[in-house]
Amino acid sequence: MNLEVLTIGTELLLGLTVDTNAAELGRALAAAGAEVTRRTTVADRPEAIRAVVAEALERTGFVITTGGLGPTRDDMTKTVVADLLGKRLVLDERLLAGLEARFKKLGRPMPPLNRTQAEVPEGATVLPNPRGTAPGLWVEDARGRVIVLLPGVPREMRGLLVEEVLPRLVARQGNDRRVVLSRTLRTTGIAESALAERVGAIDPEILPLTLAYLPSVDGVDLRVTAWGLESRDAEARLAAVVERLRAAAGDHGYGEDGADLAAVVLDALRSGRHRLGVAESCTGGMVAERVTNIPGASDRFIGGVVAYADVVKTAALKVPIETLEAHGAVSEETVRAMAEGAQRLFSADCTIAVTGIAGPGGGTPDKPVGTVWLAARVHTVTRAVKRVFPGDRDEIRRRAAQAALDLLRRLLAES
Ligand code: AMP
Ligand code: MG
Repeated sequence: MNLEVLTIGTELLLGLTVDTNAAELGRALAAAGAEVTRRTTVADRPEAIRAVVAEALERTGFVITTGGLGPTRDDMTKTVVADLLGKRLVLDERLLAGLEARFKKLGRPMPPLNRTQAEVPEGATVLPNPRGTAPGLWVEDARGRVIVLLPGVPREMRGLLVEEVLPRLVARQGNDRRVVLSRTLRTTGIAESALAERVGAIDPEILPLTLAYLPSVDGVDLRVTAWGLESRDAEARLAAVVERLRAAAGDHGYGEDGADLAAVVLDALRSGRHRLGVAESCTGGMVAERVTNIPGASDRFIGGVVAYADVVKTAALKVPIETLEAHGAVSEETVRAMAEGAQRLFSADCTIAVTGIAGPGGGTPDKPVGTVWLAARVHTVTRAVKRVFPGDRDEIRRRAAQAALDLLRRLLAES
C-alpha cells in the first residue's frame, strides 16, 4: 500500500525544528508494509495545507499529516481538512469531557481555547491521545480515501502511531501484507569505494533487494532493503545478503543496525575480563565520553587522562622528555609511551592512546592537519598506527576517536 506523509509547521521550514516526525513515520510505516511514496512539508498556512492534502489524495488516496492540531490560531490542519472534504466540525462530547477531566487533574480550569480541540470533522474516528490534549483523527471521504491527522509533538505522534495507526494499517492489508524491511551492517576503517569493490560482485544478484552505502565519520554503513515482500520472505533474503556482506566486509564489520563501536569494545572487554584506561590528546576525552556513554561502563572503564600539553604527557603519563624532543608529540614513540603510561597510571590491562593534529592550525609538510597516531595496548602488546584523516577539526577528532576504539577492538579480537 502506498501513502504520503505531510508534516505541517512553519518552524520546520525555517529549520528551527528538525523534522523528526517524518523520519520516524518513514521507518515505522515501512516496517508495517506501507510505502511512503512522497513526503512534503508546508507552513501553517491554510492554502498550502489544502493544496498538498488534495494532491496527495489524488495520487495515493491516503495521507498522514502531523502538526497543526494545537488549540491556537496557528494550528489549522483540522479546519482545513474538514473544509476540503466538505464536512462540518462537530463537538464530540466525550472528547470534551476527557479534556475537562484532564485539566481538573492538573488543578486548573480548562482555557476556553482548548474547547476547539474537542471538535472533530463529522464522521471522523477519534484516536485517543493520553499524552496530550490534541487527539488524532482518522477521516475518510465519500470515496473511501483516508486522511490521518496526528499532533506535531513527537512523543504524542509516536504514541498515536504505534497504538492507533499502525494496527489499523496492518488490518487493512489483510493476509497479503507486504513489508519494507531493512538491515544495516556497520563497517569502519575502510573507504566507501574500497568497500564497494569488495561488495560489488554480489550486488546484482540480490534483487529485488536494494543496497545503499551510507558513509559518515564513524565509517560506512551498508543498508539492504527488501521492498514489498512478505515478512518471512523478506527476513530470509535479508539474512542471506547480510551474511554475504559480512564476509565481504571482513574484519571491518563491527555490528548491525544501531550498533555503537564503544559498546562492541565494552562487550569484548567484558568477555576477556579486561579493564580499560585511556590517554587522549587531540580527542580531548572523546574516547572516554564514548565509552562512558554506554550504561554499565563502570565495570570495565577505570579512567582517562586528557594529556593535551606536553607537561601532562610527561608528568601524568611519564612520557620521557627526550621522546617528545626527539620525535615530537605526534609520533609513534609518543603514542606508545602514552599507552604504556596510562597502563601504569590506571593499573589497567588495556589502554587506548591518541595524539594528533586536529587543525585548523599546527600542520607541517611532514605532519599535515589530520595526522593522528593511535595506540591500543593489551597486556604487554602495543599496536600503533598512523592515520591521516580528512575533514575539519570536529570530523578529524571524531574519526580519531572511532579509529582508536576500532584499533582496540581488533587487538582484543586477536588476543
Ligand atoms: P503542533 O502540533 O503543530 O502544535 O506542534 C507542536 C510542537 O511539536 C512544535 O512546537 C514542534 O516543536 C513539534 N513538532 C511539530 N512538528 C514536528 C515534526 N515534524 N518533527 C518534530 N517536531 C515537530
Ligand atoms: Mg504547529
